Amino acid sequence: MKPSLIVHGGAWNIPDVALEDCRNGCRHALDVGWAILSKGGAALDAVEAAIVLLEDDPTFDAGIGSHLNLDGKIELDAIVMDGATLKAGAVAAVERIRNPIRLARSVLESSEHMMLVGAGAEQFAREQGFTLCDPEQLVLDRERMAWQRCREDQHAVEFHVDHAMGTVGAVAMDSHGNLFAGTSTGGTCCKHAGRVGDSPLIGCGCYADAEAGGVSCTGLGEAIMRIVMAKTAVEFLRAGKSPQAAAEASTRLLLARGRGTGGLILLDKDGAPGFAFNTARMAFGYVAPDGSFIVAP
Ligand code: ASP
Repeated sequence: MKPSLIVHGGAWNIPDVALEDCRNGCRHALDVGWAILSKGGAALDAVEAAIVLLEDDPTFDAGIGSHLNLDGKIELDAIVMDGATLKAGAVAAVERIRNPIRLARSVLESSEHMMLVGAGAEQFAREQGFTLCDPEQLVLDRERMAWQRCREDQHAVEFHVDHAMGTVGAVAMDSHGNLFAGTSTGGTCCKHAGRVGDSPLIGCGCYADAEAGGVSCTGLGEAIMRIVMAKTAVEFLRAGKSPQAAAEASTRLLLARGRGTGGLILLDKDGAPGFAFNTARMAFGYVAPDGSFIVAP
């Protein structure tokens, strides 16, 4: 079976000056993921490697460079889902995990549960041999300044110096037909402490069913949750829509019923990609059938 890979770095009003960073990030994520898949490696490894790269890239709102919450702290969310078993591993509101997608994978593989949050998730991380980091290592001056300005003034995109959103995600199918999807985020700026958005919620920010397809979403979490967007997109695929039609129907519904903006990437059960967004732009990339990388915006 031919492997397939699609990644994203967030759907929002990406300004011209941020385009190059967004494209480079997506290209590098495809590089690391495709290096695994093209050699016969596992979809789960490819999803993890692509998302780790995007978490480590300060361009995006995940891992290093995440937005701060109202209290000036970082709280990170991530999920990865196995399309064969329908088991997910998710973590939410973790503060001392450098790469939350790695911990999500550990929940997937080593826990009877599907989601762990806050202190309990960090306790699990310690039990699994993770080294907890100092949360300050994940905070950039850029984000501290944006947080200060957002608190003192009306929350505004321009305070974020070309970096207002940027959740990351990946969906991969390997040569054995295994399908995995994952999403990682720092959430929205100045969110209330304890706020969890769509990203780590099964069916909302991520879903994978090998019988239909895999999806990773980005955008206003509260709107995506209203329409359970990732599962909705998978059901569009199951009902026979093409990957592109399923993605576009999902963003239309996000606007009409979710009353919000965002986007999504997906692969159908045969690995064919689809993507859509109702924001000005979305950072994303996928591997074309001839092996070349298509990267946007
Ligand atoms: N969906 C994310 C959240 O609401 C944010 C984003 O995708 O930019 O936490």
